[in-house]
Parts: sequence; structure tokens; C-alpha cells
Amino acid sequence: MQNVNILFKSFDSFVNVNKFHKTLIKTICGERIIDLLLHFPYDVQFRTCSLEKALAHNNFERQIMFNDIINVIDYDFSKNVFKIICNGKYGNITIIYFNGNSSYIKRKYKISSRLLVSGKVQKQYDGTLMIIHPDIITSNIDLYTDSCEPVYPLSGKLTNRVMTMAIRQCLTLVPKIKEWIPNEIIEKNGFSSFRQALYNIHYPRSSNDISINSSSVRRLAFDEMLANRMCMKKIRNTLQLTDGVQFYRSIELEKKANIPFELTDDQNKTLSEILQDLSSPIPMNRLVQGDVGSGKTVVAFLASLPVINAGYQVVFIAPTETLASQHFATLGTYAKNIGIDIDIILAKNRKYRAKQINDLKCGKTQLVIGTHALLEDKIEFNKLGLAIIDEQQRFGVMQRLKLIEKGDVMNALYLSATPIPRTLMLSLYGDLDISIISSKPKLRKPINTTVVGKNKLNNVIDRIINYHGQVYWICPYIEKSENKKIMDVQTRFYYLKERIGSVELLHGQMKPEEKESVMNNFRNGVFKVLVSTTVIEVGIDVPNANIIIIENAESFGLSQLHQLRGRVGRGSEQGYCVLVYDTPISKNGVERLQLMKNSNDGFELSEADMQIRGHGDLLGTKQSGFKTFRIFDFKAHLDLFDESNKLINDLEIDDTLLKIFNRIDNIKLM
Ligand code: ADP
Ligand code: MG
Repeated sequence: MQNVNILFKSFDSFVNVNKFHKTLIKTICGERIIDLLLHFPYDVQFRTCSLEKALAHNNFERQIMFNDIINVIDYDFSKNVFKIICNGKYGNITIIYFNGNSSYIKRKYKISSRLLVSGKVQKQYDGTLMIIHPDIITSNIDLYTDSCEPVYPLSGKLTNRVMTMAIRQCLTLVPKIKEWIPNEIIEKNGFSSFRQALYNIHYPRSSNDISINSSSVRRLAFDEMLANRMCMKKIRNTLQLTDGVQFYRSIELEKKANIPFELTDDQNKTLSEILQDLSSPIPMNRLVQGDVGSGKTVVAFLASLPVINAGYQVVFIAPTETLASQHFATLGTYAKNIGIDIDIILAKNRKYRAKQINDLKCGKTQLVIGTHALLEDKIEFNKLGLAIIDEQQRFGVMQRLKLIEKGDVMNALYLSATPIPRTLMLSLYGDLDISIISSKPKLRKPINTTVVGKNKLNNVIDRIINYHGQVYWICPYIEKSENKKIMDVQTRFYYLKERIGSVELLHGQMKPEEKESVMNNFRNGVFKVLVSTTVIEVGIDVPNANIIIIENAESFGLSQLHQLRGRVGRGSEQGYCVLVYDTPISKNGVERLQLMKNSNDGFELSEADMQIRGHGDLLGTKQSGFKTFRIFDFKAHLDLFDESNKLINDLEIDDTLLKIFNRIDNIKLM
């Protein structure tokens, strides 16, 4: 058996395309050989030497390309139309270019030369044939055969031919690999081997071979799901390697924290489930799923008290610096009341880093809040007992594993505000215990949602001018896009600044310091309207901001709209959400916005979203650059999910499979 590690090498030195194309391929697919192989065609293109077949298409199908062998006879260049008059297998045929470069054309089509061309063919009124902009022109007449080609997702100047060639070159490198799927499942589903499945997909004979229900795609989808399950199993095994220590509740510390409100029933229930886990010698591995604003943070804080009380440390990691700073501000107050040593570690603030790192290492810091910076190797703990991972869907499985491995006695608590359908929840977090906070703190009123067309924008602005509180204004894009109908924050910012005055701008491309200062000023009521992209989506809490305007609402998913809407109505005041749509809007688009208006229930909306859009971006992972599944589809492959459930107990962890789907720390290339 050959070494499978070749799959994880960079494709650079194995693929014979120029540097410019390599860079493009890297941005689309990734860098490893296996990444190219997992870039699947979305369609197929047939070529035929039969004129009859090439002309016999209907409008619903992709037209079959026509191969012809031509002799170049003459040119006819006039205005910007370049005609090359040729003689082909079926009589006269004219090749046409619009806006071509005449010297290039003359070089390609030398008079009297014999060439193979391929492209969309049309029959003109006088019976002659015509091909506009053929996509193959070559003197290699051997290619004159009927064929079927894969069509890949591309970008920029990359052509399908280059992409196909690169992928097929990688394909020749795939060795025979030891099978990881049990035999019964292979037979039952008619799966071919991993290697053969890749061949079938990149050498399709028809569109059936690449469809979501083809046995090759299903096999690879199953592999992907299996990799995910194995990875979760690995996390659990790692957790269970640590010695169990029992941590007990301290009512005294809870009282000292002096939290200014009573917990809701659901918060109390969740807290007692967590305390139960902590007091058992088996490590905790629990997900708290709670709609936006349900108050997960304070529960997580209370969960850390038994651990700290026993002399262990707690780490609280959040996906953004803004969010980490916000947690530090609120939890800092409670911690101070008790006398707990709390710190915050962000990627910036290099000045303090050495001391901070040392305080953590020697155990002086009891509770540390931070971002990805906490995952760095140089961050060590004295005695880490609990890791809290906020908005956990924004972190990859690997990042979670990394954090857990830093602990001595590891309990893991994940918080998630993205309500997701049950099947998805099981497949992603099958090994986790789950607590659900479904009620909101009592004071809170349901958010009042309205749907308006863009032509009513002036009314909306008038309403803001007369409003006493603060306002979020969300636009989809950072900069003006080719799609001029979709609003960008910059254009909107300048416009609103003119109209309203007290307006500031926030988006993901700003420096972290700038973002934080804008956010702090907003929190302190320094200005009225925050124009922002969805960077504010996660967890931001500004009680005085109670109106949110979402422009081009039709371009967001329901779950995402719901998350955004959750930014308002967090205090005792009524929250308002205005969904602004642009016309034309599809019927489906109208229905979705109506659904938003009528439902305040994140779970209901996520189910609806899944019905409408598939699981695609439900997890909001697109923005964080981490996509959990690239092949597995939660609608089409649900039966495979059930199949993987049955396997999970006996599953042996296969490192090759984990590496193939990036479920292991293999980001560095070998
Ligand atoms: P999320 O679950 O979205 O992370 P947070 O933990 O940020 O929500 O809480 C949202 C707001 O609700 C915070 O300002 C928090 O202080 C407040 N809060 C949490 N629990 C309660 C409660 N039981 N009663 C009143 N306010 C609460
Ligand atoms: Mg939160």
C-alpha cells in the first residue's frame, strides 16, 4: 500500500499549471491535494461529433457542445464582428467572435489549417452552421470523440479546463487506501472505494454520477459524517482521560456575587444540571442551547464558582474581541464582589502579555476571558478545571479540542445561541449533554417586527430622528458591490450621517481597536445610530439600543435575522425590528419575512430555514470561515446519518479519515 500522506501535501509541485492559476485554485479549493479532490463538479458538459445530437437540445438542458474538424478558408472582419469562414464535416461553418483581437484570431486560425473546434452550434436561415466563441480550438485532432466533462465552480480568470486538468492530475496520485467503512454498510449502499468514488465524480459519464444521490457522492458524504463523529469521540476520550474531581456548589459565593436579578426557571434548571455534572467524577461535556438574550452568560459564570472555589482555574473563550470585552465588563463586576482574580487576554495588548501569561501559569488568575489568543501554545494554566466556550458554533472542533487539552481536570461547557434543528444538533453534538433555556427573563417583551419596502425608507428615518434611544442599522455589504441593489454600510453611513448626524460605522475590516472603541462609545451612549455589517451579530448587549433596522432583509437567512433581531429588547424596554426589503422580491422571500414578523421563536425559525434553504449556512459558519460539512447534506443524506448513529459505539478512530476532512490538527502541511 502506498503512503496516503501524499494526499495532505501541497498540490503545488504535483500540478502542471501556471503560478497565477495555482493561486486561484488555492483560494477556491485549499492547498492540499485532497482539497482539490474534494472540489466537486456541479454539472456536466457533453460534447458530440454528431450534428443531430448537438442541435437536439431543449431550453431546459445545458446545450451539448458540437465538435467539428474544420479547414480555414477565409476571414470576414467588419465592425467588431470577426467571422472565420470554414469548411467542416457538415459543409460550411462560420466561427464568430465579437470584440476579438484580429491578430490573435489570425494566429489561431491560419488560412488552410486543419483544426478541431468545439462549441455551441446554431443553424442559420440559409442552412449554414455557426459557432460563436468556441471553447476548444486545437490542432490535436485526436480529441475528436464524444465525451462528457465535469463542470466545476470557478472564480476569476480560472477556466474549467485548467481546473479539470489540475484535479485530474491530483487524482492520479491517490493510492489504494485501507477501508474505514464496515463491509455491511458498503454492500448495503452499493458504495465503491474512496478512491473509486473520487474517480467517478471527476470522470462523470452523466449528471447522475455527480448528483447528490449518486452512490459516489453518498459514500463521500458518509465519510465526512463519519469523520465528524470520530472527531467528537476523540474529544470525549480526551475529556475522560483526565482524573475526575468533584466540585461542589457554594451558595455563599453565589450570594457574594450580588447579581442584580433573579434567575429565570430555565436558568435555574440549567444551572442545576451543570452543578450535577460538576459534582460527579465524570467530566462534564454539556451544551447550553438558549435563544439570544436568554441569559446564558450569567449561568456560565455561576457554573465556574464551584471550580474556582476548589482552587482550579476557569477559561471563558468568546469568538470576538468585542464580545470578550463585554463579558469581562459584566462578569468583572460579579467577580470583584466575590474577590475572584479575573483577567482578559486578547490578541492585542502585547505589552501586558508576559505578566498575564505568567499569572495564568502560576495560578494567580482564577478566571480568564479571551478570544482565539487563548488557544496559543504559550498560554499555559496552573490547574485548569473548566473551559466555557461561548457561541461555540463559531469555533472549529479542533479549536475546542485544543482548549480541552490544556486542562488537568477538564469540564467543558458550550454555549450556543443559534437554535438548530434536532437532527443537526445530534449530528454535530451527538456526544454532548444538552440543556435548553427557552424562556427569557421576565421583564422582556417580545420584539415588535415590521416589514417595509425600501420606498418607505424616509418614514423609517423620520421615526429614528424622533426616537429617544439608540438604533442599530444593518446592511449586508461592506463596500459597494456589483449587485447595486444590495446596500453597503459605507454608502448608508454617509447618507445617514447627513440626515441624522449622530451616526458611526462598524464593520469587519476595521482594526480591532477601532471596532472596540466604536462599540464602547455605542454602549456608553456617545452616539445614536450604529451602521454596521453583521459583525454585531453575536452576543452584543446594549440595553439602550431598542430599534434595529435591517436593510435588504431578503438577502439574509431566517436564523441570522433572528440573531440580529435579538440585539434589541434586551432590557425592560420594548424592542423593535424593521425589516426593509427591496423589490423585486420573490414570493418565497415575502413568505420568509412574514414568518419573521409572526414568530419570535428561534427554534421554529431554524426549522423553517432548513426547509427553505437546507442546512447550508444555518450555523453562521460561513462568516467565520469554518464550514462544518462540505458534502453531507442534511436533507438528502439523512438516512446515512442514522446509519452513522448505529456505528458510533464500535467506531475505531481512523486518523487518515480525520485528516481528509480536516478534523485533526493538520493545518500545517507535511
Ligand atoms: P445570551 O443568552 O444571548 O448570551 P446574555 O447572557 O448576554 O444573553 O444576557 C442578556 C441580558 O439579560 C444581559 O444584560 C443579562 O444581564 C440579562 N439577564 C440575564 N439573566 C437575567 C434575568 N434572570 N433577569 C433579568 N435580566 C437577565
Ligand atoms: Mg451570549
